[in-house]
Amino acid sequence: MNVPKKKRTARRNNHRRAMQKLTPVQLTKCPSCNKLILPHNVCKYCGHYNNESIIAIKEKSEKSATA
Ligand SMILES: [Zn+2]
Repeated sequence: MNVPKKKRTARRNNHRRAMQKLTPVQLTKCPSCNKLILPHNVCKYCGHYNNESIIAIKEKSEKSATA
């Protein structure tokens, strides 16, 4: 039978479990459209970053109509 060679201490187990703990994703509000977006990323709803339009966002209705 397989037996662990050494006892794993409570400190070691607690440390491992602490590292597995999930942290919620930090979200910020887009200044132009007020939707929740990832910080330091271009807004995927309006294409703005740092109050500048970076990407022109196309309407979703075109793709959904064909597919
Ligand atoms: Zn936006």
